[in-house]
Amino acid sequence: MRIVLLGAPGSGKGTQSQRLVERHGIPQVSTGDLLRAAVAKGTALGLRAKEAMSAGRLVADEIVLGMIRERLADPDTRGGFILDGFPRNLAQARALDAMLREVGQPLDAVVQMDVDYGELSRRISGRRTCSDCGRVVNLLTTPAEAERELCPKTGKPHRLFQRPDDNEATVAERLKVYEQQTRPLVDHYRDQGLLRTIHAEGPVPEVEQRLEAALAASRASAATRRD
Ligand code: AMP
Repeated sequence: MRIVLLGAPGSGKGTQSQRLVERHGIPQVSTGDLLRAAVAKGTALGLRAKEAMSAGRLVADEIVLGMIRERLADPDTRGGFILDGFPRNLAQARALDAMLREVGQPLDAVVQMDVDYGELSRRISGRRTCSDCGRVVNLLTTPAEAERELCPKTGKPHRLFQRPDDNEATVAERLKVYEQQTRPLVDHYRDQGLLRTIHAEGPVPEVEQRLEAALAASRASAATRRD
């Protein structure tokens, strides 16, 4: 399946993508992760992206689209993919539509993950990443899990750090950018008949069930469209 997960920062796109990867064996394509890797490597592209990311603004479309085009040409995406954090504005959504039309592989589902504004800020402030395995845990929403789990890379407790753009000022800007530039994609995909919205608050396994139900409904309506 070719899936887009749409939602504000902190809505759980990354967490649910990782679960979909495990269950369906299709890769997660996160532009945030790709950009952070470029920043960490200190590539020319990373240097250009870093300033916008620290300020909570969107990185230039030309950079992000180049990265996506390259990633979607990798053979592991042939059986499908989960787009997490892309597209983030209308220009990116239209470019993606064109890219997929060219290869005859249109999207199967777009799921909007709906989370209350206050809950988003709370989740983001508790979010930590393991510097060894990259796993994202939450000290506020799932503290027991964050504490109990051992890092699969080191066998020791996770070494947790907070993303530099998860600070209060940057988060406020990221949420504003979401409202202004990303939320309009809801209409874009509704017009295409692809949009499903799920309530994305509550325990992770429950959100996962709602997501699976939405994907199953999308598969069923895609099959009806083809018949
Ligand atoms: P994320 O990990 O998805 O929250 O993304 C972190 C940051 O990377 C965002 O605040 C943006 O600065 C940048 N970014 C990620 N995806 C995109 C995108 N599709 N378009 C532009 N900037 C992006």
